[in-house]
Amino acid sequence: MLPPDHPLAGVGTTIFAEMGALAAAHGAINLGQGAPDVDGPVEMIEAAANALRAGPNQYAPGDGIPELRRAIADHQARYYALSVDPDAGVLITVGCTEGIAAALLGVCVPGDEVIALEPSYDSYGAIASLAGAQLVPVTLRPPGWRLDADALSAAVTERTRAMLINSPHNPTGRVLDETERAAIAHVAIEADLVVITDEVYEHLTFDGNRHVPLATMPGMFERTITLSSAAKTFALTGWKVGWATGPAELIDAVRRTKQFLTYTSSGALQHGVAAGLALGDAPIAEIRSGLVAQRDLLIDVLTDAGFEAPVPEAGYFVVADAAWTGATNGLEFCQRLPEAVGVGAIPLSSFYLQPERAGALVRFAFCKRPDLIAEAGRRLAGLTRP
Ligand code: PMP
Ligand code: GLN
Repeated sequence: MLPPDHPLAGVGTTIFAEMGALAAAHGAINLGQGAPDVDGPVEMIEAAANALRAGPNQYAPGDGIPELRRAIADHQARYYALSVDPDAGVLITVGCTEGIAAALLGVCVPGDEVIALEPSYDSYGAIASLAGAQLVPVTLRPPGWRLDADALSAAVTERTRAMLINSPHNPTGRVLDETERAAIAHVAIEADLVVITDEVYEHLTFDGNRHVPLATMPGMFERTITLSSAAKTFALTGWKVGWATGPAELIDAVRRTKQFLTYTSSGALQHGVAAGLALGDAPIAEIRSGLVAQRDLLIDVLTDAGFEAPVPEAGYFVVADAAWTGATNGLEFCQRLPEAVGVGAIPLSSFYLQPERAGALVRFAFCKRPDLIAEAGRRLAGLTRP
């Protein structure tokens, strides 16, 4: 039990663990946590296994193995024409999750404010509060989930230290467009803020939508910590290999905290990711096109079941409103769903500072096998209007 005045005293088990356990308990198809049920490239698994067999199985360098740091620097150059120093400008982290933690802890001091798009990934608020900082939400609203530039400007105070921007966005599937990116850059430069970007879905954009890192915008590279990970790009969420890239001074801030969080992560898996980045576009394109088909299937089955389900531009998730079933609270709906029909989902309320704002919105993951999505559809067809 946490002390009552602990910053996380009001936070229970994460929603992903809670809903995963409920789905398992009821034998439900788990469309909750964003974890693919088919592993990524076999070449990567072979490379990691070879590295394990060959050894050494000892601490990797704290910054990450040089082969992977070079591969990440090449990746930033090839996809985005960003020039990062593979030594001083790239740091390997334990998933993007550690990158988020180390960046916030490295940039913020108690009393600071950090602006984030809401709905926001659950670790943002938790880690900000461990840093003694406060997350200040700028709320995106359905159905368009667009950033309101005036709301963003209005969120800045003299305490604002940083912005933490997630695009492509979990859970809405939005990819920030040029106008929205320009608004963010304008506010960041005007208020002299550090920008931390969470780009874990960078390669999983659909229908011609394209991810453009904020670090590529004029005046932004020098103030931006860009975070990503191998989890989604390569459908290897269990590997927890992530990275931070940016200017040396900001990456140094991330390194200073990261070294005391985990020091380093598995060297063998880092070799696996370096091998994956050397494979070029083909495996990533294959994962992307599989996701498009699964997204379309999930939209079809949700629509047939009675949901209104807008088509996401990117990522792993469809956000749907369960209000038509009579639900007024997404958390209660998701707590009932595994037992009622045998499907697991995630309430959007966990992504809001004020959970009631999420109403009956829920998130379904489509990074799942088509036969499972189809079966989930048959089960969801059992939902009725009140
Ligand atoms: N950020 C976002 C927006 C996510 O959806 C996730 C979950 N994959 C993470 C960060 C965590 O990434 P990782 O698994 O690499 O720690
Ligand atoms: N990123 C994953 C999701 O949004 C969850 C990762 C986790 O369990 N923390 O579903």
